Amino acid sequence: MRGHSEQATQLPDSTLLNQAPGRTRTVPENEVDVDVEFADLFTATERDSPLILHAPHGGRTIPERFRASFVVSADELEAEKDRMTDHFTGELVASITGASSVVNHLSRLVVDVERFPDETEEMNQVGMGVLYTHGSQRQEIRRPSALERGELLAFFDTYSRRFTELVDETLARHGRAVILDVHSYPQHPLPYELHSESRRPQLCIGFEPFHAPDALLDAVRSAFADLEQGDNGPFAGSYVPLKHYRKDARVQSVMLEVRRDVYMDEESGSISDGRQLFVRLREHLQRLVDAVGCQILDTQSRPRLL
Ligand SMILES: [Zn+2]
Repeated sequence: MRGHSEQATQLPDSTLLNQAPGRTRTVPENEVDVDVEFADLFTATERDSPLILHAPHGGRTIPERFRASFVVSADELEAEKDRMTDHFTGELVASITGASSVVNHLSRLVVDVERFPDETEEMNQVGMGVLYTHGSQRQEIRRPSALERGELLAFFDTYSRRFTELVDETLARHGRAVILDVHSYPQHPLPYELHSESRRPQLCIGFEPFHAPDALLDAVRSAFADLEQGDNGPFAGSYVPLKHYRKDARVQSVMLEVRRDVYMDEESGSISDGRQLFVRLREHLQRLVDAVGCQILDTQSRPRLL
């Protein structure tokens, strides 16, 4: 997989891409049943669309058996989740019609499905690669055992593979696959951030030129026209399966990093203003999905690689 500075996960077997259309289910946070834990962490729906909405960081689930390796208190772990979770992005993505949605319910503190799995991942330097050992304050949060690492990396591989299959299936059916990678980020930088000096626009648009034709970027800028926007900062890039990364320009991808105060109260962790802000954000995203769904792939355009 590939992507950006915040990335995504997977699951063991069959359930993944076999969900009934429209099905969404939230996994209880303290789920103990192993099969249930993993079977429902990943959902994909509505394959009649070239669009794939992805919410990799909205989950808060930490399966019970993976809690023992965390070296912080239960309260600190919850506080860390409050800081690091892309709150309500799963709900946001699941509420959109006319696109496949992939919603990861597992907390990024367990596995970050959107990191590069190798040494090219810059977040490794702060202990926040695929398997975090450190948290947002640069504090140590976990010492995973070798056994645990194996299981969690298998989850990463499965998630990546299932996502790749969905992209391939979408390409076969539609001739293109457009990934909208939905995240959110805090108004004020956290100590772990490597590019915290960057401006923090209400909407940070992340992309790689090879996978982001002008028509897609124009559609994003237009759909979110009333938000202050910036490109590739403080977070850059967008999720593309490694199989297609910089190889297949029919796979388009753009990351939407919404500054959290745009749609929620960061202090209380709730959706603020009687949900009106959240509803407005949802309308912007739906507008984008509707617009991109109507676009025709320009097969004559040459991919740009900068
Ligand atoms: Zn994120």
